[in-house]
Amino acid sequence: MKKICFKLARALYSTSQNTEVKICVIGSGPVGFYASQHLVKHIPSVKIDIYEKLPVPFGLVRYDTFFYTNTDITQHALEVLSTSKIKEVYLIGRRGPLQAAFTIKELREMLKLKNCGTYWCDSDFVEFSGSTGDVEKLKLCVNKLEGADILRQKAVFTEDVEYLSCDLAVTSIGYKSLEVDPAIPFDSNRGIAKNANGKISDGVFTTGWLATGPTGVILSTMSNAFGVAEYIVSDLKKCSIESKPGFASVEKLLEKRGVQLVFWENWLKIDAYEQEMGKKLGKPREKIVTIKKMLEVAE
Ligand SMILES: Cc1cc2nc3c(=O)[nH]c(=O)nc-3n(C[C@H](O)[C@H](O)[C@H](O)COP(=O)(O)OP(=O)(O)OC[C@H]3O[C@@H](n4cnc5c(N)ncnc54)[C@H](O)[C@@H]3O)c2cc1C
Repeated sequence: MKKICFKLARALYSTSQNTEVKICVIGSGPVGFYASQHLVKHIPSVKIDIYEKLPVPFGLVRYDTFFYTNTDITQHALEVLSTSKIKEVYLIGRRGPLQAAFTIKELREMLKLKNCGTYWCDSDFVEFSGSTGDVEKLKLCVNKLEGADILRQKAVFTEDVEYLSCDLAVTSIGYKSLEVDPAIPFDSNRGIAKNANGKISDGVFTTGWLATGPTGVILSTMSNAFGVAEYIVSDLKKCSIESKPGFASVEKLLEKRGVQLVFWENWLKIDAYEQEMGKKLGKPREKIVTIKKMLEVAE
C-alpha cells in the first residue's frame, strides 16, 4: 500500500448522531483541540473531524521542553547530550527583550538556570565562518531598532560587526507556517493566513500559530482558540449552513490515493507502544521518531 504523510485523527469530540453542523479542523495541535472543545460545548449538534498530517496528534506539544532523564526525551538525543563536551552556550537574539517572541515566564526561567549568564546586546546573527569547513566563529552584526511603535520596531543592520568564536552553531530562528492552499489568502512575510480576528472568509477560520505567527505559549494559544471558537459560534447563528458530506467524501478520496489512515484507535496503539518502550528505559515514553515506524505500529 502506498503510504504518505497525510494521516487522520477523527471525530475525537463528536457528541451527536443527529448531525446538523459539521466542522472540519485541520491540525491536531493544542489549538485544534482547544477550539474543538469549545465548539462541542457550545454547539449541541456539532460533528467535528480533526485532520492531522502526521500519524501522531498534539502538534508541538509532543516535542516540547524536557528535563533530562525522567522525561520523554528520545533515547538517541539523551545519549548524545549525556556525552556532550559543550561547556559554553550563547543564545543570541536579534532585538531587545521588548520585541522578543518568548514570554516573561520563559525569560525568568532562563535567568534562574544554574551556570547561566545573560548579556543584553543588540546583535544579529549574520553568517558562519571557518576556513576548514568546520564552524570557527560567528559574524554578528550590531543592529539598530527603527520605528516609532516600540513593539513593532524593525531591526536594521549597522556597519558594526563582532565575531564570536565557537565550534558549533544551531539556528533556532523561528517557526513559520507555509502556504498549503492558494485558496486561503496567505501573508508569506509573516507566515500567517490572512484573517480578521480569526475569520478568513465565510465558514473558514484560523487560530493558533497559523493565525498569529509563532508567538506565545500554550496558555496564549488556548485563549486565542477559545476566542476564535466563540466567534465561530456567533457567526454560525447568522449564516445558513449548507449540508456537506464531510468525512464520508474525504475518506473515499484518501482511499483512492492509497493513504494509510490513522484513526484515534490507531494512535492509541502508537501511544501504548511508546509508553511500553519508555517503561523499559525508566521514562514516561520513548517517542517514535520516524513516520515509517509510526505507521507500522499503527497498523
Ligand atoms: C521549541 C518549542 C518549545 C516550546 N515550548 C513550550 C513550552 O514549554 N510551554 C508552552 O506553553 N509552549 C511552548 N511552545 C509553544 C507551543 O508549542 C505553541 O504555543 C503551540 O504548539 C501552538 O499551537 P498550534 O496548535 O497553533 O500549532 P502546532 O502545535 O504547531 O500544531 C499544528 C498541527 O497542525 C498539523 N498540520 C500542519 N499542517 C497541516 C496540514 N496541511 N494538514 C493537516 N495537519 C497539519 C501539524 O502537524 C501539527 O500537529 C514551544 C514551541 C516551540 C517551537
